[in-house]
This record gives sequence, structure tokens and C-alpha cells, in this order.
Amino acid sequence: MTDRNSLSRYKKDDNGVLWIWNYVANARLKAGYKIKTLLHYEQSPFQEISIVDTKGFGKMLILDGTPQISTNEGFIYNEMISHIPIVTHPDPKKVAMIGGGDCGPAREAMKYAGIEQIDVVEIDQRVTEVCRMWLTPSSYYENDQRFHMIHRDGLDWIQENKGSYDVLIIDRPDPAGPGAKLFKPDFYQYVYDCLTNDGVVAFQSGSPYYNISTLKNTVKNLRDLFPIVRPYLVSIPIFPCGIWSFTIASKKWDPLQADLNKLQHKDTQYIDPEIFLASFVLPKYVKNIVDEGTP
Ligand code: SAM
Repeated sequence: MTDRNSLSRYKKDDNGVLWIWNYVANARLKAGYKIKTLLHYEQSPFQEISIVDTKGFGKMLILDGTPQISTNEGFIYNEMISHIPIVTHPDPKKVAMIGGGDCGPAREAMKYAGIEQIDVVEIDQRVTEVCRMWLTPSSYYENDQRFHMIHRDGLDWIQENKGSYDVLIIDRPDPAGPGAKLFKPDFYQYVYDCLTNDGVVAFQSGSPYYNISTLKNTVKNLRDLFPIVRPYLVSIPIFPCGIWSFTIASKKWDPLQADLNKLQHKDTQYIDPEIFLASFVLPKYVKNIVDEGTP
């Protein structure tokens, strides 16, 4: 999807202004982000991590040259990957996330008083530390007794936690680097096994425009296991082409029948009951992709 030689993606233009260029091979598209300051740059044991202050999006986390989240619009991704599965389950007590980063989805989960445990499984401790330093310096959420940070490979962790969680959130990056294993067919079975008998899971499932096989394979693998599988769409300004998909899979509860009175949207910036339902309305070209994913 993206090449891994990301240091070369930082380039100064003729006026000496720094840009980072994200080349998306599938879309034949190169997106440039104008940088005010390169705040942090390192190679961790797992990936290249950088934090930049941009002209357009505020501070941004970049992994292996691919933008992940920004302070100005990260609420869209974080709210949509977390509130929808949490509200779909009528009474979630134990919630876990694979892929931590800035812990944005965990902070959304904390808005639900009924949740008793929030476990965040992140492979790269340096991502957590760097985000803590530059993106979310306030540690208020770390004082929430329900929150546990686990620095493990999500693929190993999930196989040791069978039947444990009411809600899982698979906040995986692109299928490259350490996240590639979170797209393998076996992983979907481990996710199924990790959920309780009426568990619900939401996956980051790629762009419906240029990651078509990611979306199609996610839906197909999930339909082989779960009775209810529904992709839903969001617009994410920092991602090339803008439009993005998540996919919810559920053993019992249908998101379209969820009790939306439970949605904690008083201080959200994207999700409300209308957006919750509207995000499941798919344009015809996306329906064609996911219908082909039907066995
Ligand atoms: N929404 C997040 C936030 O609030 O910053 C962004 C998370 S980013 C899309 C995905 C995260 O998954 C990265 O922090 C990456 O280090 C982590 N990751 C990649 N492969 C992993 C694996 N095998 N197990 C656990 N975490 C993994």
C-alpha cells in the first residue's frame, strides 16, 4: 500500500518549507502535508514514529510515513470506531482495543459509566510514550481506574483471552509493518473467540475507494463467522481520498436496532444519533464491494 522508506518522504520545497509526502500506490496519489515543525522523529523496534505540527491539521502522528491521527480532526476516527460498537451492545462491561496510539478510542469509551474495564493493547511502547509527550500531555485519562495499558502484540494477546470481552475495537493501521498480521484470516477467528457470547467488534477496514480488497476481505472473513456484519462510512480529512470504512460484526445485537438513548454524545464533535444511523447507508459502489464479499 505504501512503501516503507518514509524518511525520504520529508522534503523541503524551494522556499525552505518542510512537507511530508504520503504516496498511496493503489490510488496513484501523492498527498503532501505542509509542516510547521518536525517535533519528533525516531525509529522504534517496530516502526518509524514521527510527530509533526502541520499548517492544516494541528499536531499529527505519523507511522512509517503514513498519517494516523491529528489533533484537529482525530475526533472523527476516535468517536466512530468506539461509540458505535459500545452502543450496539446493550450492557458492555469489558472493552478492549488493539492498537493504542494516542488512546483516543479509550478516552471515548470512558464516557460510558457502565463500562468496568478498558484494556488497550499496543505493540509499540514508544508510540504510547511519544503520543503522551506530544499529543495528549494531560494524563487525566490514565487516572481512570478502569484503564489498563498493555504493551503486547495484539495477535499474541488475543489468543490468550478467550470469551472475555463484550466489545473489541480493532484500531489497526494499514496492512503493512507490525499491523499486517491483524489482517490475516486467522485473526478474525481469534477475535470471534475473544468475545463473549453476545460480543460486538468494530474494525478499521480501509478506504472503500483504494483499499477495496481490504474492505472486501474484512467483510468476507467476518461473514464467515458472525451473523451480523455491517460496514459503515466516515469522512476523514487527513486520509487520502477522504472516505473511509469501519466494519462492525456482532454475535447477537444489530447496530440498526441499538438503543440510541444510550449514546453519550453531549461532548462529541461528530457522532450523534442521526450520524450513527446514517453512517450505515452505503453508496452503490460500496454496496457492490461488500456484496461481492458475501460467501
Ligand atoms: N486511533 C489511534 C490514536 O488514537 O492515536 C491511532 C492508532 S493507529 C491507527 C494503530 C496502532 O496500532 C499504532 O499505534 C500501532 O503501533 C499499533 N499496532 C500495529 N500493529 C500492532 C499489533 N500487532 N498489535 C498491537 N498494536 C499494533
